[in-house]
Amino acid sequence: MKLPPFQYLEPTNVKEALSMIGTHKEKVKIMAGGTDLVNRMKLRLIEPTFVMNIGKLRDMDGIVIGDTETVIGANTRLKEIAGAPLVNKRYRAIAEAAFQVASPTITNMATLGGNLLQNTRCMYYDQSGMVLSGLERCHKRGGTVCLAVKGSKRCFSVYQGDMAPALIAFNARCVLERKGSTRTVSVTELFTGNGVTPIALEADELLTKIILPKSESFFSSAYRKLRLRGSVDYPLASAAAFVSVTNDRKIATCRVVIGAAGAAPKVIDGVSCEADLEGMAQKAYDHAEGVDNLQLGGAYRRKMISVLAKRAIKASIDAIKEGM
Ligand SMILES: Cc1cc2nc3c(=O)[nH]c(=O)nc-3n(C[C@H](O)[C@H](O)[C@H](O)COP(=O)(O)OP(=O)(O)OC[C@H]3O[C@@H](n4cnc5c(N)ncnc54)[C@H](O)[C@@H]3O)c2cc1C
Ligand code: SF4
Repeated sequence: MKLPPFQYLEPTNVKEALSMIGTHKEKVKIMAGGTDLVNRMKLRLIEPTFVMNIGKLRDMDGIVIGDTETVIGANTRLKEIAGAPLVNKRYRAIAEAAFQVASPTITNMATLGGNLLQNTRCMYYDQSGMVLSGLERCHKRGGTVCLAVKGSKRCFSVYQGDMAPALIAFNARCVLERKGSTRTVSVTELFTGNGVTPIALEADELLTKIILPKSESFFSSAYRKLRLRGSVDYPLASAAAFVSVTNDRKIATCRVVIGAAGAAPKVIDGVSCEADLEGMAQKAYDHAEGVDNLQLGGAYRRKMISVLAKRAIKASIDAIKEGM
């Protein structure tokens, strides 16, 4: 499949990149690793006038683990995150999520920023122009119907990024820069929850870094994912858990973030002791959307959300016990 025509921009630093997106705004698309963007362009889902390659910007790359927080540049490759010993030790769910994205050929190119900011997906939308020409225009294509949920006035496309649930489990924040100003928001705030326009970023904003706060003394985390094959495939259901305990081994925090369960990752807080696991799994199920618009049926995916939530919490609790 050929790419549509576009003009190529290659800034040499963040300042230059901000100036370029400030000038071209909606007409420019940012490309980091390109593993999501290029496919969408080939499918003609987007046809930007300009493509700005930020993949070579070294000032947005790398992992700095400090005493109070850890900063990961938006351009950091997922392969590096998956393999970083300190990420594996302190932020296990994040390393596990990065390891499970797609396949090594993709994670060599794919960046953390690009992973977070990928669009939502649906089998009635992520198709070539030839297939789409035979389908009625749905909400996500500017139409008035939903082909997945007949009669629905909204879009149920699914956010299938692996990294966001794991980052949100750690209460991560991210830095968004535009020419002349910078704002820091929680990763949760990157998502609108609206399947048509799922990412809450202004056209002239660049995600430059992700910040992970320091956690309590005894904690662990885990990420669990359902996919058709053991490699390459997007999550069809996922859950990240963060659990911390007090000195006398009582659960202090238990946070689960479910993914591939709607247009945005969803946070579920709540377990106060190990016996609450079933209740937490039920909450995860209640919050998940199960629509038949991916490769597995919606009802099954929804059930698996509760199973994965339980597995992720249990893996976190077991890891804490081993380490105490
Ligand atoms: C075969 C295949 C399998 C895949 N499997 C998975 C999977 O299992 N799990 C998963 O999560 N993903 C999967 N993906 C999707 C994708 O490869 C990854 O999400 C990847 O991490 C995207 O990163 P990237 O750097 O290539 O993003 P790009 O394609 O460069 O960008 C993605 C989006 O983010 C925007 N963007 C990128 N960086 C910035 C920035 N710094 N500031 C503002 N906007 C930015 C771009 O404009 C674009 O809209 C798969 C893709 C393919 C082709
Ligand atoms: S969920 Fe419905 S509106 Fe959204 S992309 Fe799929 S078919 Fe279109």
